[in-house]
Amino acid sequence: MRIVVIGAGVVGLACARALARDGHAVRVVERALDGDRASFGNAGGVAVSEIAPASAPGLWKRVPRWLVDPLGPLSIRPGHALRLLPWLRRFLASGTPAEIARISTANAALMRRVYDDLLPLLADIGLSGDLRREGALTLYESEGGFAAERADWERRAAHGFPFEVLSGSEARAMEPALAPRIARAVFDPGWGVVADPRRIVEGLETWLRAREVAFHEAEATALEPKLDRVTITLADGTTGDADLVVVAAGAWSARLAASVGDPVLLESERGYNVTIPRPNVALSRQLIFAERKFVATPLAVGLRIGGAAEFAGLDASARHARADALARLARIYLPDLDARDGTRWMGQRPSTPDGLPVIGWSPGKGRVIYAFGHGHLGLTQAATTGRLVAGLLSGDTAGIDMAPYGIARFAR
Ligand SMILES: Cc1cc2nc3c(=O)[nH]c(=O)nc-3n(C[C@H](O)[C@H](O)[C@H](O)COP(=O)(O)OP(=O)(O)OC[C@H]3O[C@@H](n4cnc5c(N)ncnc54)[C@H](O)[C@@H]3O)c2cc1C
Repeated sequence: MRIVVIGAGVVGLACARALARDGHAVRVVERALDGDRASFGNAGGVAVSEIAPASAPGLWKRVPRWLVDPLGPLSIRPGHALRLLPWLRRFLASGTPAEIARISTANAALMRRVYDDLLPLLADIGLSGDLRREGALTLYESEGGFAAERADWERRAAHGFPFEVLSGSEARAMEPALAPRIARAVFDPGWGVVADPRRIVEGLETWLRAREVAFHEAEATALEPKLDRVTITLADGTTGDADLVVVAAGAWSARLAASVGDPVLLESERGYNVTIPRPNVALSRQLIFAERKFVATPLAVGLRIGGAAEFAGLDASARHARADALARLARIYLPDLDARDGTRWMGQRPSTPDGLPVIGWSPGKGRVIYAFGHGHLGLTQAATTGRLVAGLLSGDTAGIDMAPYGIARFAR
């Protein structure tokens, strides 16, 4: 088939690779080939056990405190609050015990495949050595903090992602740079870290170009599926046709889905980080600071400290003070950290309220496939998403029931 993939982030390019490998004629349409994207600057974690939605029972009680704390993990720009309401309503509805169980089961089905799909992708692009599988440490400052998340760890284990509870000193033995204030830690052996997420996107692009996948710099503004083709309208008013279109435009995908007639709740959940080339501390694996909700990741390009969830819409300017705040916060836990010369970055996570990606056909249209909405997990799930998108065409989705990821869930 003549297939157009819209979006050259890690998800779009992983889809393009899987489709090209299956013999389809693939083209990639990307608005800004030299532009930034969430896939470039993320934390680089292969977070296979992160299966539950961010929403949890009683979470709303903690939100007001977070919102007024300048170092807090959550912020909502006042001008965006009203538009966020339908998404927030659905987000809160995803935090019931029954929904958490359903969503975790669906996410785990993807996560169990992650390395099966990611390892061949890295091998294809010559970056197998970029993946380090040293696990991750989640750190708690209090026994209470750990107790509050114990059920979450048990749920992960029940889905095949085991964990090990450590004392503070056991955690420090693994990561000597840590301050003594850690009371409890959980070692998750399944997590991995890539050397630099940007290198994977660039490696995929190189691999695709070498296989005659064309890259076309243009912004798609609308899709019109017809019986025998899809017409794509570009921002300059021109149109083009394809047998099939894959929408992988990250946080910008909702507009394209709307043009097809498929409503979706998708928010730009902005995250910030700072990458420090000479941090003066050495870590062996990703550290997750549970109560403060940020992570420190040792990458080839330096120590990346990041996190935060800011809801401000797609077009608001970045507030890099959030990245500076995270670097200050990190010094509490990593006392020898030297945060000078850090590079600040903001990226837009494409986040659905239920924490599940949108992967599947446009219902009833037959010529549009969606592959977006991976939120905090796009790097982790990209190769598997590509595998499944190609599987939707070949009829082999690896035994995974695709219904939970369908866009139809937003039509209800
Ligand atoms: C701070 C931070 C930390 C993160 N850490 C991790 C992590 O450790 N592990 C993990 O798995 N994930 C992590 N993520 C999430 C991950 O980065 C995203 O889920 C992932 O990059 C999304 O990839 P994507 O290809 O869908 O979107 P993007 O990378 O944003 O790519 C979408 C592309 O589509 C293009 N586009 C948009 N609209 C159009 C249009 N109309 N026409 C043409 N092109 C268009 C854009 O220009 C862009 O290049 C993190 C994110 C952030 C912000």
